[in-house]
Amino acid sequence: MDQFIYLDNAATTRTSPEVVKAMLPYFSENYGNASSIYRLGSESKRAIMQSREIIAESLNADPAEIYFTAGGTEADNWALIAAAESTGAKGGHIITSKIEHHAVLHTCEYLEKRGYEISYIDVDENGILKLEDLRKNIRPDTILISVMFANNEIGSLQPIKEIGEIAKEKGILFHTDAVQAYGHMSIDVKELHIDMLSASGHKLNGPKGIGFLYIKKGVKIRSFIHGGAQERRRRAGTENVPGIVGLGEAVRLAFSGLAEREKKIRGLRDYLISRIEKEIPYCQLNGDREKRLSNNVNFSFRFIEGESLLIMLDMKGICASSGSACTSGSLDPSHVLLAIGLPHEIAHGSLRLTLSEDNTMEEMDVAVAAIEEAVSKLRQMSPLYEDFIKKEKLR
Ligand code: PLP
Repeated sequence: MDQFIYLDNAATTRTSPEVVKAMLPYFSENYGNASSIYRLGSESKRAIMQSREIIAESLNADPAEIYFTAGGTEADNWALIAAAESTGAKGGHIITSKIEHHAVLHTCEYLEKRGYEISYIDVDENGILKLEDLRKNIRPDTILISVMFANNEIGSLQPIKEIGEIAKEKGILFHTDAVQAYGHMSIDVKELHIDMLSASGHKLNGPKGIGFLYIKKGVKIRSFIHGGAQERRRRAGTENVPGIVGLGEAVRLAFSGLAEREKKIRGLRDYLISRIEKEIPYCQLNGDREKRLSNNVNFSFRFIEGESLLIMLDMKGICASSGSACTSGSLDPSHVLLAIGLPHEIAHGSLRLTLSEDNTMEEMDVAVAAIEEAVSKLRQMSPLYEDFIKKEKLR
């Protein structure tokens, strides 16, 4: 059988069979519109309520604080745009970080064009937000702070509780994009003083195209999609019942046995990191060693191109991701890797491996051998590497 090793769980996860099973009846048998008053509709309404309750419980929130969306991007757009516009005043100031996902950064650019001012806070060399920088940037007209829970590229975990406390003390709304963290670690919105939180189904073995925005009771932000009265008039549109049911089941599964699963994945991660560091020269781990997602490994290998490495790994059936995005023919290094201070040429040689409980130690061994072989082949073709080795020999 052809080898296949999936190490790109930050991009998306496999929808678990239990989730698919839970969803299926809502396509074919229980297809009623949740707004209809007959029994078929009531069953959809009941199923939506059940998912809402499961999600609320997982966050220590109230079911009425959960609003289903078509994924993390929509939740981020809603949180930022509606929060900005709900203040009534034209303009206003928003604080975010330099390492947010484009769902937040591009929404900030959109708001900038409409007169809002945005401050992009620095992170340190490990990708952790600088709290003193956050404090310094707060102004009387700051309306919102949006900082991600965990970074999607380098896995760094942000000081969410401290940020929540600062926002609360100053009376500023606090939104966090928890798309990569939710379902992988415990999050208590009350303890962390979070006003709004975005999450997405397909990052936790749920279906794609479904997510939610948690909006704390009392937070006055306007509706985002206009139309019918769904989602308490704040997010119109006939509910994606199979998606919502699938998300609920994925959340239920994610939070049962979370600690055990996290321990297993962390073990795989630490093994992978230590073998790569020991066996492949001229590499560096990106992101914080301790404050990092339990499934994230991100390395830069000097003298190689991440894209070429990905292609070589793909030829061996290994799915991974790099820190570059091939946009309009030019290779842009990742804004996250640049923000932690990597020079362009090192940022270009990065590789992200994101694990799941389906992975095994044997797969880690196969991956290390494949990476080692590919990196060494690519270096053999690199004039920069040749120069470097010559100079090393002369020293
Ligand atoms: N925010 C973060 C941190 C992400 O990693 C992603 C997806 O990669 C998103 C937002 C977007 O989520 P979705 O794919 O559900 O729109």
